Amino acid sequence: MPFKSLGLPERILQGVRAAGYTDPMPIQLRVIPLYLGGADVIGCAQTGTGKTAAFALPILSLLGSHQPRPRVLVLEPTRELAAQVETAFRDFARFTDLRVAVIYGGVGYGRQNQALKEGVDILVATPGRLLDHLRQGNCRLDAVRHVILDEADRMLDMGFLPDVRRILEKCPRERQTSLFSATIPPQIESLISWAMKKPQTVEIGVRRSPAETVKHVIYPVAESQKSDLLLELLKRVNYDSVIVFCRTKDRADRIANLLKRHQHAVTVLHSNRTQSERELALRGFRDGRFEVLVATDIAARGLDLVEVSHVVNFDVPQHPEDYVHRIGRTGRAMAAGDAFTLMVAEDAPHVFAIERFIGQKIPRQKLDAYSYDYTALFEQDRPGAPAGYPGKVRAVRLSGGYYCGPARRRRR
Ligand code: AMP
Repeated sequence: MPFKSLGLPERILQGVRAAGYTDPMPIQLRVIPLYLGGADVIGCAQTGTGKTAAFALPILSLLGSHQPRPRVLVLEPTRELAAQVETAFRDFARFTDLRVAVIYGGVGYGRQNQALKEGVDILVATPGRLLDHLRQGNCRLDAVRHVILDEADRMLDMGFLPDVRRILEKCPRERQTSLFSATIPPQIESLISWAMKKPQTVEIGVRRSPAETVKHVIYPVAESQKSDLLLELLKRVNYDSVIVFCRTKDRADRIANLLKRHQHAVTVLHSNRTQSERELALRGFRDGRFEVLVATDIAARGLDLVEVSHVVNFDVPQHPEDYVHRIGRTGRAMAAGDAFTLMVAEDAPHVFAIERFIGQKIPRQKLDAYSYDYTALFEQDRPGAPAGYPGKVRAVRLSGGYYCGPARRRRR
């Protein structure tokens, strides 16, 4: 079914065409008609499913022409996501006179105040800075008719739910409210029953299942060899672009410096970097100047890095949800991608939790002709080793073909 049959007006269809979209993705097919019909929608969808267009296109279609007070409020957990969603709205709205502004912390107030003064139709914001503007009287939300709570589970993780409630209290009750979240924990359920009216739920894919196109593999390794194994992996894999996830900012800096010393074009993204440093890092990564982005989980969700061919978990994420969010960077929009995870002995409980969460066993793999230090993890490889979870370490062939040899050229 083409976009045209979804009931979007021509001025928005032009924006869709300019964005290069030809056919709607499943979430768009299901959410757009519901939204246009006036329903509050809950979208249970991971990042990479096309959810931004699923809410942006019907909202823009319902707005008509420019008015000075914000009628749309989109709340996002991070600055990067807010900037990305603002760009999507701008792109889709380019054949209308609607105005979009983005509001987030870590930068000055000047440009944001200016935009608010000039009048905007769509406000994309992170909760903290928006509350600051509301307190200072720089903007009001009494004309808001559409609210989107995007990546709601991430906002919960980051402790933003009280701010979200405070903001919603300043919006009129008569409004359309939609919420998008990969998971719906109890706190989000109570937000839903407080903030939404008779919501319709759209679930895309199996909830909690990572992108199907991603090939997962775990590399068991001794702690002392982790950095070396990472270097070796990057040497053997002909990646186009790779994000390496680390648990802490210090580790991210250390790994980035190591990769730099080994002639990788690398940049770092974590919360100690200034806003302009983060923007430079992201821009450089998107335009291919940097091939490796070393990041903490701040970069794990929603960032529109379509070209990422590989995700490497240098550290196993402590929460299974974070694994899904991290690997959401690869295999987006049905492109193939690989997710590699380095695992040391202490990571075992976290790895099992991830496997339970995604409902599949991730194959263990050893690099050919690599001189491994001993780790108890290899015991499971021994003939006669006691059976049991996680089971024998072996390569498993996943549907669609699993790559487990040395370097190869990626399909483009
Ligand atoms: P999102 O989940 O909104 O972050 O979207 C994931 C990626 O899919 C982004 O790169 C979008 O630009 C892309 N995308 C969304 N909808 C479509 C579509 N209908 N056709 C092609 N690409 C799309």
